[in-house]
Amino acid sequence: MKETILGVDVNTENYDELIPKLFSNIDAKKKSLIVAINPEKLMRAKDDPALKALLNRAEFQIPDGIGVIIASKIQKGNITSRVTGVDMMDRIVREAARTSKSIFLYGAKPGVAEAAAAKLIETYPDLKVAGTQDGYEKDTSKVINKINESKPDILFVAMGSPKQELWIEEHRNNLHPILYQGVGGSFDVLAGNIKRAPAAFQKAGAEWLYRLLLEPSRIKRQMNLPKFLFEIIRSK
Ligand code: UDP
Repeated sequence: MKETILGVDVNTENYDELIPKLFSNIDAKKKSLIVAINPEKLMRAKDDPALKALLNRAEFQIPDGIGVIIASKIQKGNITSRVTGVDMMDRIVREAARTSKSIFLYGAKPGVAEAAAAKLIETYPDLKVAGTQDGYEKDTSKVINKINESKPDILFVAMGSPKQELWIEEHRNNLHPILYQGVGGSFDVLAGNIKRAPAAFQKAGAEWLYRLLLEPSRIKRQMNLPKFLFEIIRSK
């Protein structure tokens, strides 16, 4: 199920409902792309028809960001819980380990994808990591060949948004993996380069507050949330 927020389709399902859909697509060899939707991306897409179309072409748009949940509530929609990029990735990796599907990690600075893979294998010893590649290799065909030769079922791309989504869209016809997810800074989080907020902040949906306390200059970016909510109310 999808709900439209500022012209962008967003999935209403939670993790448990999404996982069987994602993996039945893998079994059916049906390619699909997961993009994370947050207020920042929705505001950008509002003024950028190409970005909006790209987000809408993805097979799955997950409601990352508490702002999306609030927006759904304002428009009396059905999205009740966040599905974050990093947690969605974790759930996919867990299911991949359970069902013997292999993953490839592409993106972030040299060494980070390897470190993230090592952390994932520590958590899920049965996980098959087909390969890793940093996000700064200029030779695209080299990257595509490396991915295809290692035959992963699932490709995670961590190059920031919308760069990662553009890259996946441009090359998905030449790529062999079946499931694709753009995961932003998740490899850095997994590798331990970036700390996530403590569990209490995460539960309260207040990771933004934690980050603001650590990095007060983020206030400028965060002032976009009220602007976004105003836009939602206006669009009703
Ligand atoms: N990154 C990359 N290649 C690039 C630019 C960025 O691999 O050409 C990586 C960067 O090292 C970081 C990740 O993309 O690990 C996410 O970057 P950023 O935090 O800017 O994106 P966001 O998560 O805010 O979308």
